[in-house]
Amino acid sequence: MKLMVVSDLDGTLLDHHDYSFEEVLPVLDRMEQAGIPLVVNTSKTRAEWLAMRGDFGNSDPFIVENGSALYDGEKVEVFGLRRSEILEVLKPLRSKFRFTGYHDVSLQKIMEWTGLDRQSAERSADRQFSEPLVWQDSPEAEEEFCRMLRDRGLMTLRGGRFLHLLGQTDKGRPLAHLRKEKVALIALGDRPNDLEMLEAADIGVIIAAPDGYVLEAEGMLRSTKIGPRGWAEMMTRILDELKIPNLTINHG
Ligand SMILES: [Mg+2]
Repeated sequence: MKLMVVSDLDGTLLDHHDYSFEEVLPVLDRMEQAGIPLVVNTSKTRAEWLAMRGDFGNSDPFIVENGSALYDGEKVEVFGLRRSEILEVLKPLRSKFRFTGYHDVSLQKIMEWTGLDRQSAERSADRQFSEPLVWQDSPEAEEEFCRMLRDRGLMTLRGGRFLHLLGQTDKGRPLAHLRKEKVALIALGDRPNDLEMLEAADIGVIIAAPDGYVLEAEGMLRSTKIGPRGWAEMMTRILDELKIPNLTINHG
């Protein structure tokens, strides 16, 4: 059976605070030598991952915007909705609720909201399948808004700063598509939006979070180390157990 690794990015492959990832590089080398692909499954945009993946030496297929689309070379498989469709659903609700979306503001405003530099803000704003909103109405109104969107075929994800609107998908949905290649799937993640992905995999691994947050789920492996250290810890253990050779030369 061939293996495929599917992984969340923030807090899992990338350190939550300083975005470091050196610890995973020797493991990625080992996987590459064994022909095991790494499919990154992120809430980020395609533009954000493309700007970053060279640092990981990665050119495998990837999933963006919380399970909205799977990119494989020139091919794209959409599981969510196009952003234009999302904005269309949103239109009639604008008079009823107070909120401001990425679509409504300048790049300068997005830089203020996110604290990102211009180039990074541009990549974050390059959304194809989702719309982040800053909610400016009451929590009760937010509940009603989310329910109305669900009735209209959208889904909402509550992040710290933004309410994310997307099609009815999640990080687990594209995994059925990956399975067409008859692979055993190992998935790694750290937050509730990773749950469907972890459950859809053959082996689910929960990566410990720096804030002590514990993702509740049955039948998962759990790292003891945090973020990318935990990723390297658990993938090394799994590859050792599967007797995948380690021919890696140490990255000084
Ligand atoms: Mg994460």
